[in-house]
This record gives sequence, C-alpha cells and structure tokens, in this order.
Amino acid sequence: RQQRKLSRKKKGSHNWYKQLLKVQKLYRRIKNIKKDIKRKGILSILRTNPQFITIENLNIKGMMRNKRLANSFQQIGLGYIVEWLKIKCRDYGIELRQVDRFYPSSRICSDCGHTQPMPLNQRTYHCNHCGMMKDRDINASINLKQATDYTVIV
Ligand SMILES: [Zn+2]
Repeated sequence: RQQRKLSRKKKGSHNWYKQLLKVQKLYRRIKNIKKDIKRKGILSILRTNPQFITIENLNIKGMMRNKRLANSFQQIGLGYIVEWLKIKCRDYGIELRQVDRFYPSSRICSDCGHTQPMPLNQRTYHCNHCGMMKDRDINASINLKQATDYTVIV
C-alpha cells in the first residue's frame, strides 16, 4: 500500500521523499523480521544440543535457473540460513556436516536403503521394496543423519 502511495506522488517532491523514506523503513523492517525468524529457527535446533547437523550442498545456482524454484528460494533466503548456521555451529561447538549435492537423500528409503525415483510432487515416500511410508522430507532428513559420506565444514 505504501509503495502504491509512493508511485502516486510527484517524483522528487518533498512528499515523494517523505513517502520514499517510509517505504524504505518498511522494507528494512520486513527484512529484519525475516532474519529474526531464521535466527530463532536455527537457535531452536541448536538448543536440542545435537552431536552434529548435516546439510545438503544444494546447487543453489542451478536451482535459480528454474524460475519457480528461484522465486521461492529468494523468498526464503537460503544463503543467509546456511551462513548463520555456520556461525552458530562454530559458537556452540557443533559439528556441521555437508553431504554432496549428488547424494540422493530424497530417493533412498531410510529403512532399507532401497532407491527409487521421487518426483517433486510426491510428498510421501512409499518404499517399493519394504513398504515403509514416511513424509518425503522426514525420510530425506533421516538419510542425511545416517549419511557416512560427508565433509565437515565447521
Ligand atoms: Zn524400504
């Protein structure tokens, strides 16, 4: 609404500058709120006192080429999350592991190790081999936890 108000004012006028300041302050506030949410989310993970945290080396640049994904990643600010996680793991002395982006965390059954294709729209992992059923992201998280091939980055 404030942005629309700005566009209705005469560019360069006193009121335009006043409104511009208002818009800029608002954007800064939104940015800070987002940052705060990310920091609190990371903190709540660290407070569970994990032995280690494993993340995937996601191909962010590659995903940015996919327009739909790029937009949601930009919205989330994934880069900031990873950077903050590194800083905090260092502070708390928690090992931060990174698995290669080619590690098929989504396609492996976390129960039996079987691998099957998992298109993005499939939200539940239903193993063709052992019948295990888990939420797609939970299954992938367990696989990351169990990963043995990783680089310690912090
Ligand atoms: Zn299975």
